[in-house]
Amino acid sequence: MQYSIALDLQQRMCEIVRRLNLTHIDCNRVVCIRSCGSKARRVIARCHALPKIMQLAMEVRAHYAIEFLERFERLSQEDQDMTIIHELMHIPKTFGGGFRHHDFVCHKNVEKLYRMYVESRPG
Ligand SMILES: [Zn+2]
Repeated sequence: MQYSIALDLQQRMCEIVRRLNLTHIDCNRVVCIRSCGSKARRVIARCHALPKIMQLAMEVRAHYAIEFLERFERLSQEDQDMTIIHELMHIPKTFGGGFRHHDFVCHKNVEKLYRMYVESRPG
């Protein structure tokens, strides 16, 4: 696996966080990363967290990483934005190193936020 920091996606993610007013998400502690070489089929992106025990061991606060796999690049702009929103929704209000699961991060809720995002578009 090869990883690289994705500054362009970081910027897009921060814009989404800002426009959707997701105040529980600290953009400085969510890092967007591109990966290539994954064997995982059908995976577009995934959300990782620094587990609580490692936060304690390393004396750092919670951090998340959103990994974007190669197939992400082939999506439409709209599907890419929805993917970013989907991954952000996995981060719980506590921002503590845990996750919200697919009972909450479902298509219906992602679409709701995506619509809010589109409507917040300036101009
Ligand atoms: Zn998911």
